[in-house]
Amino acid sequence: MNKDRIVALQNIKKDVEVHQCSLRSSCIQAVPGEGSPDSEIVFIGEAPGRHEDEQGRPFVGSAGQCLSKLLNEISLTRESVYITNVVKCRPPGNRDPLPEEISEHAEFLKRELDLIKPKLIVLLGRHALNRFFPDEQISKCHGRAWRHGEQAYFAIYHPAAALHNPNLAATLKEDFVKIPKVLKAIKKLVVTDESSVDKKELSLV
Ligand code: URA
Repeated sequence: MNKDRIVALQNIKKDVEVHQCSLRSSCIQAVPGEGSPDSEIVFIGEAPGRHEDEQGRPFVGSAGQCLSKLLNEISLTRESVYITNVVKCRPPGNRDPLPEEISEHAEFLKRELDLIKPKLIVLLGRHALNRFFPDEQISKCHGRAWRHGEQAYFAIYHPAAALHNPNLAATLKEDFVKIPKVLKAIKKLVVTDESSVDKKELSLV
């Protein structure tokens, strides 16, 4: 692991921890992203929940257990990937983050992605999807991979949605197991002018 990248990621973490956003007075602590700065995949969720707020770590509650299990199914560990959220502080009562709260935290997500430069961004649920693609619907985009410019994205349902709606659990698993195939497809791509066409669907075969 590159030492400079580890230090750079620690600096982002420190900045997240001291940042005074409008959610700071109602939450216990900020929850920075965690994982490997060399990861080829970054998973982006919505915002910390109660357990994440208590422990200061992303995806450690029931949605996190679901995510860890899904990662194991594709032979990945939490430590080998990078996991973060659109908003780094818990909204009161787990309400949806407001647009201004998303904006307040935008610089941190940008810095994380600029540093890690993942081959693939996995968008967990509608808030992560809409952070990048405001007009898309998760019900239509889940299980699909596409490129926007040179960045590849893959959208899936949020693990918490699958926990609340058992009908989505099978879909989530079906979509999740496509991730290694998507990564393989990305690595095969030759980047040409034509390949940076916006929103080009990636072939999964
Ligand atoms: N849900 C999220 O979106 N993020 C977390 O960190 C935990 C639950």
